[in-house]
Amino acid sequence: MLVVMRKDSPQESIDQVCECIRDRGFAPHVMPGEVRLAIGVTGNKGFVAIDNLEGIEGVLEVIHVTSPHKLVSREVHPEDSIVDVQGVKFGGPEVVVMAGPCAVESRDQVMEVARQVKRLGAKMLRGGAFKPRTSPYSFQGLKKEGLEILAEARKETGLPVVTEVMGTDDLDLVAEYADLLQIGARNMQNFMLLEAAGKTRKPVLLKRGMSATIKELLLAAEYIMSQGNYEVILCERGIRTFEDSTRNTLDLNAVPMMKQFSHLPVVVDPSHGIGIWSKVTPMARAAVAAGCDGLIVEVHNHPEKALSDGAQSLTPKNFGLLMTSVDRVAAAVDRTLLG
Ligand code: PEP
Ligand code: MN
Repeated sequence: MLVVMRKDSPQESIDQVCECIRDRGFAPHVMPGEVRLAIGVTGNKGFVAIDNLEGIEGVLEVIHVTSPHKLVSREVHPEDSIVDVQGVKFGGPEVVVMAGPCAVESRDQVMEVARQVKRLGAKMLRGGAFKPRTSPYSFQGLKKEGLEILAEARKETGLPVVTEVMGTDDLDLVAEYADLLQIGARNMQNFMLLEAAGKTRKPVLLKRGMSATIKELLLAAEYIMSQGNYEVILCERGIRTFEDSTRNTLDLNAVPMMKQFSHLPVVVDPSHGIGIWSKVTPMARAAVAAGCDGLIVEVHNHPEKALSDGAQSLTPKNFGLLMTSVDRVAAAVDRTLLG
């Protein structure tokens, strides 16, 4: 359910509407918009009449929301949402590029890559300190030390940091360092982690599970938003299919579909999507042409020595080529990248 109010409704009226919703045992979610203010109602089953709402100053109408992922859906918030990560805006005219190594391996590695990607136009630095690896014997990440290295790179370059949180136990620690919390494909349906991330006020980059449908991704985002954290960015990173010549199948159908169903920004990870460094740039171009709001790209100063995902990592030089080439596609679809 959704209570639609005038954009300039007095704060007292907004509080009064929220109070009426809480009195019925439901949760109000205030979502300001360009032309109206919406208050989403969660916790109800179907339409329920809440007495007196229509009589409150500023209330225009009360509508039934049919989507199962209400807060994520355009029914509740018709305009694109802008998620602001330390001044970097996702969902506006700019296509935001996040770049950096798969894993934080050393101070020198991160500093070098951070300086290079900044120079080449990236707006955020990526790098995993907690790494979800298929084998328990593979490099698991530098953990707290890795977070400290990322913080140092942020300090020097000014690039905000996106880094993965793997479990609820580490959430407070990772949130202390991250500007954008990454929830990875393997954790997309870790509902306890989603709820805990929803209780923080840190923006979340939610990656699609490798066997998850678009609807399941949207419902996972709803878990975060239902806890009052509305700063969610969706990420298509490739799904498992029968095709085995690439690491995953980058599902670019998901971009326009998610933009239709949801007001949240959508970013694409072409590195995990295809898994082959020489094919990352064409897929990045295709993702921008399909309408994504950002890219997350793996870059390593020595891909051949990388402790994880070297095969899909670009050298800084190749990342520079990606940027100039994707910039031209962005211009063709009325977006900006380097400008
Ligand atoms: C990553 O970004 O390095 C990563 C582990 O991504 P995903 O969760 O999409 O596999
Ligand atoms: Mn990786």
